[in-house]
Amino acid sequence: MEPLLDRLGRPLETLRISITDRCNFRCVYCMPKEVFGRDYAFLERRELLTFEELARIVGIFASFGVRTVRITGGEPLVRRNVERLVEQLAAIETPAGDRLELALTTNGSLLPQKAEALAAAGLSRVTVSLDSLDDEAFRAMNDVDFPVRQVLEGIGAAASAGLPVKVNAVVKRGANDGDVLALADHFRGTGHVLRFIEYMDVGSTNGWRLADVVSAEEIVGRISERWALEAVAPERPDATARRWRYLDGAGEIGVVASVTQPFCGGCSRARLSAEGRLYTCLFAAKGHDLRAPLRLGASDEELAEQLRAIWTHRTDRYSELRTAETASVPKVEMSYIGG
Ligand code: SAM
Repeated sequence: MEPLLDRLGRPLETLRISITDRCNFRCVYCMPKEVFGRDYAFLERRELLTFEELARIVGIFASFGVRTVRITGGEPLVRRNVERLVEQLAAIETPAGDRLELALTTNGSLLPQKAEALAAAGLSRVTVSLDSLDDEAFRAMNDVDFPVRQVLEGIGAAASAGLPVKVNAVVKRGANDGDVLALADHFRGTGHVLRFIEYMDVGSTNGWRLADVVSAEEIVGRISERWALEAVAPERPDATARRWRYLDGAGEIGVVASVTQPFCGGCSRARLSAEGRLYTCLFAAKGHDLRAPLRLGASDEELAEQLRAIWTHRTDRYSELRTAETASVPKVEMSYIGG
């Protein structure tokens, strides 16, 4: 089948699915407590796509060339029986007869209980978000007093279950930029790739300021002053992270420089919200409702046609056009659409 290309010639290769907008953390840069408090109207259960609906949509995406599906949220592991979804997605084949690559992004808090079941269900790998190893700083960033030790146990549980682990750290000036070297030191030589993410102006609730962004250049600079690094070619043309290898053989790090070095040109990602809205950019304000046609009885062909129309009209390249003004334009929340 011909690859489905958007208006800028970008293929559709990766689908990120948010399976819940709820989270057991209240990270200050993502779900600030003042906004996501007791009165916040989270999605009702009946509004969420069921696992069967998700599997059907993913099957249609796979027929268009999607090879990687990332399960995210909110916190995906708070959705009950998430391993059953993994099982259903693992049964889907690409047109070439290959299995999909199934990744999951999690805060790691529930991995000690879930890692075995997820691996057995067919998950390919996990990315664990961990912004600091300093217990006090970490508790302050997640804002629910969650100890760093339990996330490290989660990473250990995933590795013991045979799941390759990447670790994502968002760096925010004044919050955890002092922890970059300690994080690098901890994960050097473990086989887990640590990736630093520039703090982004996602959503409209986190009070983002450019001054709070610590650039990838600064991060790599600080690490390379301590351990010599050399650049490594990207894993895929649409990779989000730039890779660096420790010259002493202790593995590699990545930096996701979506603010200072945008990578819209290679973006092949579509995102599905937990209620079935399809977004063609992390910074979009509006999504396309796939749940309504799905629940009104649309055939696979009709859904595929809708998807084709959405992708072939896509022109998004927000990060390349970002200015101080666009940062305050309303956008979908990260906790709703997932990372
Ligand atoms: N709960 C899961 C987790 O913690 O990984 C999945 C969802 S979370 C929204 C996905 C990722 O987005 C996390 O690594 C989080 O740190 C990151 N994130 C949230 N807000 C961000 C922001 N403003 N800038 C950069 N990354 C952000």
